[in-house]
Amino acid sequence: MFKIRNYINGELLPPLSNSYIDNYEPARGEVYSLIPRSSSEDLKLAIDAAKEAFPKWAATSKEVRSDFMRKISERIDERLEELAKAESKDNGKPLSLAMKVDIPRASKNFNFFSSAIKHFESESHFMEEGVLNYTLRSPIGIAACISPWNLPLYLFSWKIAPAIAAGNCVIAKPSEITPMTAYLLSEICQEVGLPKGVLNILHGYGHEIGKEMVAHDDISIISFTGGTKTGEDIASIAAPKFKKLSLELGGKNASMIFSDCNYEKMLKTTLRSVFANQGQICLCTSRLLVQRDIYEKFKADFVKGVKGLKVGDPNDPNTDQGAVVSEQHFKKVLSYIDLAQQEGGTVLCGGKAKDLSSEGKNGWFIEPTVIEGLDHSCRTNQEEIFGPVVTIQPFDKEEEALELANSTKYGLASVVWTENLSRAQRLATSLHSGICWINCWLVRDLRTPFGGVKQSGVGREGGFEVLKFFTEPKNVCIQFDR
Ligand code: NDP
Repeated sequence: MFKIRNYINGELLPPLSNSYIDNYEPARGEVYSLIPRSSSEDLKLAIDAAKEAFPKWAATSKEVRSDFMRKISERIDERLEELAKAESKDNGKPLSLAMKVDIPRASKNFNFFSSAIKHFESESHFMEEGVLNYTLRSPIGIAACISPWNLPLYLFSWKIAPAIAAGNCVIAKPSEITPMTAYLLSEICQEVGLPKGVLNILHGYGHEIGKEMVAHDDISIISFTGGTKTGEDIASIAAPKFKKLSLELGGKNASMIFSDCNYEKMLKTTLRSVFANQGQICLCTSRLLVQRDIYEKFKADFVKGVKGLKVGDPNDPNTDQGAVVSEQHFKKVLSYIDLAQQEGGTVLCGGKAKDLSSEGKNGWFIEPTVIEGLDHSCRTNQEEIFGPVVTIQPFDKEEEALELANSTKYGLASVVWTENLSRAQRLATSLHSGICWINCWLVRDLRTPFGGVKQSGVGREGGFEVLKFFTEPKNVCIQFDR
């Protein structure tokens, strides 16, 4: 069986313990490759490599670093189909989605930071009494980049690209559930001749090697995307060591649908915003708040649209929804559908696993599910499910919709559907979320700040914000004679 290897000091290496973890194909529910179960000995090799590489890489000109980013981006484009197939097989997502979104976006991340690093400026402040302050921004050292399984290469590259573009060396860990494209990225780094030790990729369990990375004294900056509970554990280890920390965490995103919206556009986009990637995008909508005068119409049209979504073989170009990522996650999502019914919810469509064994797919498929009749305070409406499940609730007035939208501990993304510009602006100001889409969803400009409020995270990724995160500012103050 194919064995994935770690990428350390420019080389592809087996784990020193020779211990491996099973890697499953979600659509088949079968093991198809093995992942290194890395340990502290592997981490030591990676730390040594990164420490050795750092002074030279930090002193490398921005142009040279930028060139490497561009070459990685180009190589991802050249290997698009292979990477997309690997992502779809490893994660269960439709191949068409990986071809259109995941892999092109990973390439764009490298391409974007190839350019952004050349345009990254620091501030200067002139004082009238003959003093000039300017801000020096230097790379920090060794960064840990830890990412989840839902958008594997996309989110992995979203961290790695700015970290190394800014002159840091990186030790990165993909989710052990979806390691394959991170492995292929190691090959790409070799192909473009990225200097040894600049990027090191360790595979393994989060609670083992991930935790060790977070605690390691030579790692001074941590960029993490994943669940809120894991973020809390990481913060509890990193904070007493005064490490720089960026946490992109869970969400329970609401979409507010007003009766004056562009109905057709809203309906089409809402189907996507709820069910794209089987609902496993941190930005997916999981609560639909619908103004009462269009509630029944919306319900009928939306459920009809959901019933038309094809759940099936990720390789089939007509598939809208593939498998969810793992058996454990499959059980978790189904348990929330049971909970919703215990809490008094009515399942309008879906509500159970989809059996595709007759097609030779014994994996983890779930019917897209719509639930109504729940109070906003119940667990189904408060906790992150992270699957193809959405609730719908009616509201009468704007203030009520705002209160419902803001009623969870999360604050990642929100969507507002209205043609009333003043209302849109009022809500954009008052919603507790790091990103607010008005009359659209998942429109992303990589220059914008990205992140969450409340328990959805701390810090911002994207654009110059993340380059600020990955550099240390120092004020230089010069007084000169007049
Ligand atoms: P997890 O928090 O379980 O894992 C994320 C990563 O952290 C994985 O690589 C995991 O490794 C690792 N990890 C787990 N425990 C530790 C630890 N103690 N120390 C260090 N690393 C650890 O999240 P999921 O992979 O399940 O991803 C889903 C979550 O990610 C959802 O809550 C979703 O909302 C969130 N997310 C947030 C985004 C945002 O931008 N705000 C974007 C995308 C997802 P392993 O897999 O081996 O456990």
